[in-house]
Amino acid sequence: MMEHDDLVERLTEFLSEFYKSDLITAVSDGKKFLLIDFSLVDKFDIELADYFLEHPEETIATALEAAKQIETGMGEIDVKLRFINIPESREIRIRNVRSEHISKIVVIEGFVRRASEIRPEVSEAVFQCADCGNKIVVIQTERIIRSPPDCDSCNNKRNFKLVDQKLYDARWVTVEEASEVTSGERPSNIMVYLKEDLTSPKMHNKTDPGNRIKVVGILKELPKRFKGTRSRQMDIYVDANSVESIESEWEELEISLEDEQSIIELANDPLIYQKLIQTIAPALYGMDEVKEAISLQLFGGVLKNLRDRTRVRGDIHLLLVGDPSTAKSSIMKTITSLIPRGKYVSGKGVTAAGLTATVTKDEDFLGGWILEAGALVMCNRSLISIDEFEKIEKNDQVALHEAMEQQSISIAKANIVATLPARTSILAGANPKLGRFDPYLPIKEQIDIPETLLSRFDMKFALRDLPNPDLDAKIADHIMKTRFFNQEEAEPIIKVELMRKYVAYARKNCHPEMSAEAAQELRDFYLTLRGRSGEDSPIAITPRQYEALIRLAEASAKVQLRNTVSREDSQRAIILMKASLRQFGFDPTTGKIDIDRADGAKSTASQRSRIRILMDVIDDIGKRVGKDVPVEDIIRQAREEGLDSPEEILRKMLNEGLIFQPKQGYINKL
Ligand SMILES: [Zn+2]
Repeated sequence: MMEHDDLVERLTEFLSEFYKSDLITAVSDGKKFLLIDFSLVDKFDIELADYFLEHPEETIATALEAAKQIETGMGEIDVKLRFINIPESREIRIRNVRSEHISKIVVIEGFVRRASEIRPEVSEAVFQCADCGNKIVVIQTERIIRSPPDCDSCNNKRNFKLVDQKLYDARWVTVEEASEVTSGERPSNIMVYLKEDLTSPKMHNKTDPGNRIKVVGILKELPKRFKGTRSRQMDIYVDANSVESIESEWEELEISLEDEQSIIELANDPLIYQKLIQTIAPALYGMDEVKEAISLQLFGGVLKNLRDRTRVRGDIHLLLVGDPSTAKSSIMKTITSLIPRGKYVSGKGVTAAGLTATVTKDEDFLGGWILEAGALVMCNRSLISIDEFEKIEKNDQVALHEAMEQQSISIAKANIVATLPARTSILAGANPKLGRFDPYLPIKEQIDIPETLLSRFDMKFALRDLPNPDLDAKIADHIMKTRFFNQEEAEPIIKVELMRKYVAYARKNCHPEMSAEAAQELRDFYLTLRGRSGEDSPIAITPRQYEALIRLAEASAKVQLRNTVSREDSQRAIILMKASLRQFGFDPTTGKIDIDRADGAKSTASQRSRIRILMDVIDDIGKRVGKDVPVEDIIRQAREEGLDSPEEILRKMLNEGLIFQPKQGYINKL
């Protein structure tokens, strides 16, 4: 132990030398706290620094005493001292926090998962041990003042004297370890106790769920009362001394010089886009456009802060509508492993934990309400795959509107009013209502997702399971090869670990700007499509698709770590957009792209009904002759029903895969 007077003297000397003017300013400005750079303590007096780390409670209290002795000419100094820049050796992974760290300084880092509301007038009682004189602080959560279970210095269990009691505002939060650290394991979490100026409005925002923070504090134990009986298990918590926001996306993902070299090599590979496609889901054959779109989604576009303070998101949202037999879910799961902190959830199961945010009653600690971040918030700055999107509860769907465009989630329930960050890319999967996707029906009639939400996706793709003898043979071979003979072919071209680093690196370091020719290319495409819509035809394309094109082109530039978006990037974006539009909105009658239909609005595509008529004809004949329907009969009956050029429609239906030809002269309906 250091003599008390000695400690006061050293601390007074330190504060006078480094922080005198700051302390005086703090007093005159009425500031409640002052940040102290611990590395200065370390330089000033290494013995004092070591003592601080081992006896933080005592040292911090003494430092306040010391501060009061500094002459300010303006009265007594009464500011909290908040320490930052604690040596790295004190940074402990949450899962490794142990009882040996109790009453020592710890530094932990992670995402706020839950936060209580701020409770005013929480009291803290200070007891003195009758045996050794040690002072023990106990947070009081009940009406009867509770003494400590034992002395943390001499283990005495009785005769504690109440020597002080104070009131303040307090909040507790649960901090969860970032999942890039735990790599797939269940994340660990720890409770952090915030009080006094750490609950100020500014700090309040920083410590709301979804934020990443670094906490310096003293590890303490909290005797937990559970259903009236004191549990033997002691809960630990960090009594915070300072809290800092961490802005960067993936701190812990260490990218070595060697990694950086491999990343740059990849980015410079002329086949990189092809390699990305092959990395997305190597065990699945085909669907290259979908895979390319998803690979661009991983990299994302560039967030723009406009002068009028509006923000345009850089994150890309994609929707996959798939027949139940397609490999939609498999792709959606794979993708979340390729990006740090990516997560896969199902719309059906996600309601309990909450996709957005939930407010519940705090039964454990201070009482009041707790705000808990849902999956979208916890994936802030990453990507979330939401399968069975149509099954999301209606309440959550409402919140998704805000999340997808403003990239935040606002909640106002009980006493809690908060706006949580949700800069999250969404890869959604939906099942068609009728079991099978029909490109000739408006999308709105096929999936249970409100139009307003549908329009927020940058691109939508249909994953259809169509019999196509040629393709089927290739898929069958591919499955055989990857499962039994040549397993390497199912290995992703880019290894998962490297891919995660590549994505993190590009997102962090690359913020490409449009070149004049890239902008021209996108503008021309956009204007041509707009121009194609006549007076009575639906609007061909909306500014939302224009924004999407820009994001896709930016993402394409990020793949090669370029600072400029090139014409080729724009062309890549256009090809993907065309593919997406064709799947949902291409009107086979007019040859126009009908965005209103892609967004689920009513279509004017009159001839779609002709396809329905022809389908009915095929059904009708099929009932008489069986599965294989002669083309001749179809044409004859269609003409009788007054249908013009049925041959042409039949050909289109074949191309679209709505029907197929089992043998020459016969049609088979799916
Ligand atoms: Zn004691």
